Amino acid sequence: MVSDFDTDQIIVEDNIVTYRSLSYFIVEINDKFRPDEFDKYDVILLDIQDESLLHFAISEIRTHVNPRIYLKPIFILNTTEYKEVIISNLSDGVVSSISHIPSIESKIISILSKIERINHPKVLGFDSQMINRTLNLMYTRGKKNLEPLPYFHSGIGYYYPELSINFHHRDESAALKILDIAENEGLFQSEFYERVYLCNNCNGGYLNYREVCPKCNSSDSKSQDLVHHFPCAYVGPIDDFRNSIDDQLDCPKCNKTLRHIGVDYDKPSVLYTCNSCHHRFQDYYTKAKCTTCGTENDVEHLVAHSIKRFIMTKKGESVAINGYINIEKQLETIPGTVTMEIFKVLLQYELQRLHTAGYHSNIGYLHVERAAQVSGILGLEKQKELMSDLVQMLRSNINPSDFVSFYNSSTIIFSYVDKNYDDAKIVIDEMMDLSNRLISKTFEKVKIDLKMDLEPLTLGNEVEQTVNSMVFPLSKL
Ligand SMILES: [Zn+2]
Ligand SMILES: [Zn+2]
Ligand SMILES: [Zn+2]
Repeated sequence: MVSDFDTDQIIVEDNIVTYRSLSYFIVEINDKFRPDEFDKYDVILLDIQDESLLHFAISEIRTHVNPRIYLKPIFILNTTEYKEVIISNLSDGVVSSISHIPSIESKIISILSKIERINHPKVLGFDSQMINRTLNLMYTRGKKNLEPLPYFHSGIGYYYPELSINFHHRDESAALKILDIAENEGLFQSEFYERVYLCNNCNGGYLNYREVCPKCNSSDSKSQDLVHHFPCAYVGPIDDFRNSIDDQLDCPKCNKTLRHIGVDYDKPSVLYTCNSCHHRFQDYYTKAKCTTCGTENDVEHLVAHSIKRFIMTKKGESVAINGYINIEKQLETIPGTVTMEIFKVLLQYELQRLHTAGYHSNIGYLHVERAAQVSGILGLEKQKELMSDLVQMLRSNINPSDFVSFYNSSTIIFSYVDKNYDDAKIVIDEMMDLSNRLISKTFEKVKIDLKMDLEPLTLGNEVEQTVNSMVFPLSKL
């Protein structure tokens, strides 16, 4: 029989510590660093003191593709706390020695139980993946707030650890775009924190602001006071008033000696002389030189971004557990379809072809009614399957040269080229019957209503106008 004392022992074997039900893997500085193998253990203990190596180890784990690894509890074996942004925010804490492992056990159990609750749907879109990773990390650590942290190594000056870690500092501004998407989806609420100005060319935040010559852009200039002599109204740089003998100022125009500032002369402003092209000017330009890519930005052309604090909403919390899928991005991967942008380009060509005498062309839509309810019942995977089936059915009835796209997650938009409207309409109506039968067979549990229509293309119409007039009736459904 095993006593309580025995089961609670801390067992150390090579680099593996076992305490009660959990295993801890000790990673040392001289190890070959292989995060792929960390999945076997419950906790990673980093026995690394060097800050840059710690930084590296934590980054490698937190950016790993496998959620079981990037969410892994990480503790640092040390006696001091780290202040560095990535080390302190993306590790779960510090433990002074192996004998103190019992003190971190409850925290680990809490993290592990939350990791267990998370579902990881197959997500294709990069933005969706980033949103999921961020929410997952925050949720498992019981974090509600995503704060922008001022950080020297950040490409934009501010760092959202759980998200920004996934980006090279060159691409970090992309994190702001992802946070906007997440906020628009209702996963976060935000509060204004700061405004940053980024390079117009590379979105870098390291800018050197300086005053430059309006003629040659050189920042090498000297400034001197401009002097206004009241009696004769002469205005010129102070050098014009100096003489080679004494400190007195003499007016070059009327030869009088200047007496008292404010009484017979004053200094209304400053005059700059460019040391490079000798141009004299009173108003300099302010330019921001990007220290990352070298671009000389006019300050008015810098890209302004709001840096916000984000607070996870209830919806965000639920998405953290169930996964975020942007259905429209998922639909883009359905074979036989093009993106809406390409659709519009092709439609432009088609409108041009109407100039050919006797040429007829059409545009149509296929819409799933009550899409939100349908998607709620079917789930995202099944919804994708449904839309994919509809695309296949559509493709087999129209010409191979026709183009098909998703106007939104419940509406397919397509061309029906080189056919007069009446003939095309007959095909479409038959297709409507066919597709209703097809989906009622495949998706038995839910009643799906389809709506389909066709319109002839009109000579002289614009692309936007054509698409909008086609789908406009749908917005009223
Ligand atoms: Zn004078
Ligand atoms: Zn100059
Ligand atoms: Zn730049």
